[in-house]
Amino acid sequence: MRRGQFLPVAVPAGLAMENQMQTSFHVHSATCGCSPENRSVGESDTRPRVVIVGAGFGGLSAAKGLAKADVRVTLVDRRNHHLFQPLLYQVATAGLSPGQIATPIRTVLRDQKNAEVLLGAVTGVDTAKRCVLMGSHAINYDYLVLATGARHSYFGRDDWERFAPGLKSLEDATELRKRILLAFERAELEEDHAARQRLLTFVVIGAGPTGVEMAGSIAELAHRALASDFRAIDPHLARVVLVEAGARALSSFPEELSAYTARELKKLNVELMTGTKVTGVDEAGVMLQGADGAVSALPSACVIWAAGVMASPVAKWLDVDGDRAGRVAVGDDLTVAGHPEIFVLGDCALAKDKAGKPLPGLAPVAKQQGEYVGRLLTALRRKPGSKRFAFGYKDYGALATIGRKIAIADFGKIRLRGFVGWLTWSLAHIYFLIGFRNRFSVALDWTWSYLTFQRGARLITGPVEEAAKPARQDGEAAGRKAA
Ligand SMILES: Cc1cc2nc3c(=O)[nH]c(=O)nc-3n(C[C@H](O)[C@H](O)[C@H](O)COP(=O)(O)OP(=O)(O)OC[C@H]3O[C@@H](n4cnc5c(N)ncnc54)[C@H](O)[C@@H]3O)c2cc1C
Repeated sequence: MRRGQFLPVAVPAGLAMENQMQTSFHVHSATCGCSPENRSVGESDTRPRVVIVGAGFGGLSAAKGLAKADVRVTLVDRRNHHLFQPLLYQVATAGLSPGQIATPIRTVLRDQKNAEVLLGAVTGVDTAKRCVLMGSHAINYDYLVLATGARHSYFGRDDWERFAPGLKSLEDATELRKRILLAFERAELEEDHAARQRLLTFVVIGAGPTGVEMAGSIAELAHRALASDFRAIDPHLARVVLVEAGARALSSFPEELSAYTARELKKLNVELMTGTKVTGVDEAGVMLQGADGAVSALPSACVIWAAGVMASPVAKWLDVDGDRAGRVAVGDDLTVAGHPEIFVLGDCALAKDKAGKPLPGLAPVAKQQGEYVGRLLTALRRKPGSKRFAFGYKDYGALATIGRKIAIADFGKIRLRGFVGWLTWSLAHIYFLIGFRNRFSVALDWTWSYLTFQRGARLITGPVEEAAKPARQDGEAAGRKAA
């Protein structure tokens, strides 16, 4: 097969030279037009180039799905690791270490000879010239897969982020871990009762799966793992408040499982406040508005945001309209209208199921979409011009954990809860983790924690001067706000 058959749309002649003039670096593609002598070692490969941006669930499975295709795969990510986000909350609450839920991308693709990995943040896409921009670098593509995921959204109140960080990256998780553990340390030094209570009040905003997991895990950390470790304070007195604007926790699950979750959270001493809106967040804590419209202050030194996400700026890069969450609408083959060579996957895509319902932002959706793109491009490469088959999502069910040994699972007709739900949740997460070492060490840590209630990663990293600062100042701030 000739190269040109893979990508029917011609790239303007001289494009490569143009790019070279504009940028300090140019990565060649099959159709970029550069002469062989201008290609350095490794650049003489003239197979069509599939550039994948993002090595999350979607991007990585697309790259792996192309292992047998006669293409050159270039996977770009601004981080050097693939992150298993569903277990981030365990890093944030000192249950697991960062290395247990992250794997270097190069390691994952080490044996895949047609794949290369580039570290860098993509800043835009030039669809006319078919190149991805990384600052002053440009990478030409024949096919482009955008799978850059999502970030937290503060619904226009970005000033809240400082006081209520969200959980999306390892840095977020270790920052939250620091804030949570520091709150106990600072409370141990604090003499003022109100200030101490503020330090021992943890507020989680948003009772979706991440909020429920965080709240349950902080409660268990305070009431079990740290219970005997302090002398001046009693960690049992820590308050964990889970605030939800909607009518129930885990609203994407059946009502019966939401009700069960609420009961289990209560047993863990988590205060679930449904029908409550957050109207303000600052260093003193949060302002809450109940269903009756009454506004009250809840002083807290540790507020965690688990309320909303916004897609990464793919819509802007492609100069198309995104939906309210910034997602780009894609067709049955996950490509963008008018661009059969551009695929958008995972959390930044607005893909619909057969009934026209948008697919949720979940790891299995992104993973299956990535696998689909791998299969589709492999098939197109083998049989150029063949009709594109459509993507179909297989929903295997949803899982959420509430505590150390309690979880819920919704498989349609079969619904699990309690310990059986937790076993199912644990096995599924261990299975989907990448690498034997991570699977083994996570299983070992969970068994240890299950038997002893202990957390193996209670480390405060980064500067801790704050811990020694007279905490009274914060107490005064909280008192002012709460008054
Ligand atoms: C705390 C948390 C808990 C979750 N729990 C669950 C769960 O229990 N079950 C479940 O199914 N789903 C869960 N999810 C959702 C799930 O993780 C996402 O749906 C999934 O990760 C989406 O995959 P993706 O490939 O679209 O994006 P991601 O996995 O987010 O990957 C995006 C990748 O793109 C890279 N990237 C971003 N911008 C750029 C750029 N400009 N240049 C280069 N690279 C870039 C990032 O570094 C990242 O590697 C959870 C998410 C979070 C945050």
